[in-house]
Amino acid sequence: MITGPSGVGKGTLIGELLERLGELELSVSATTRKPRPGERDGVDYHFLTPEQFEAHVAGGDFVEHADYSGNRYGTLRSELERRLERGVPVVLEIELQGARQVRRALPEAMAVFIAPPSLEALRTRLLGRGTDAPEQVERRLRTAEDELRAQREFAHVVVNDRLERATEELVAIVRSALAEGRGGEPGADR
Ligand code: 5GP
Repeated sequence: MITGPSGVGKGTLIGELLERLGELELSVSATTRKPRPGERDGVDYHFLTPEQFEAHVAGGDFVEHADYSGNRYGTLRSELERRLERGVPVVLEIELQGARQVRRALPEAMAVFIAPPSLEALRTRLLGRGTDAPEQVERRLRTAEDELRAQREFAHVVVNDRLERATEELVAIVRSALAEGRGGEPGADR
């Protein structure tokens, strides 16, 4: 799984990773957040109403779920299982609380924390992305300060200073995990 603050470039890095290591597949998360322009249901996220999301929580359908910046996000068990049954290694892109839950539930899952070169760089990126209102950006930055302190919990930290370099580092980490048989994230070595 790949974690790190919002705006750090997890999505872009994961895109590069999936392109480089074709055997990996990305788990499509569920969220109550409204789609941004261009986002497609079932591709970028499963966009759910709060009621639908809650029904999945009650049904025990999530491997992990978290509240983040006023919305709910979660990984559906079915997203993982249908891939792991075929032996396909799965990548999760999740925020910190979810990453901690996955670490407890599936300790063999490998985790990488993506860090920004600085908090200032993160602010510039979040503002420049233009996908969130200024209040949302400030809210995400406050969360990011806490998230950054958590990076020491992770064995692998990749600083996203330059996309090319950070991609190389991430690919090397994931490649070596796959070679060790830890690739079926989570739980492939079973
Ligand atoms: P965004 O609204 O920018 O798409 O995502 C906000 C945050 O939620 C990001 O840090 C993203 O990685 C995280 N996120 C996306 N999907 C999930 C998920 O399934 N579970 C958890 N815990 N976080 C997620």
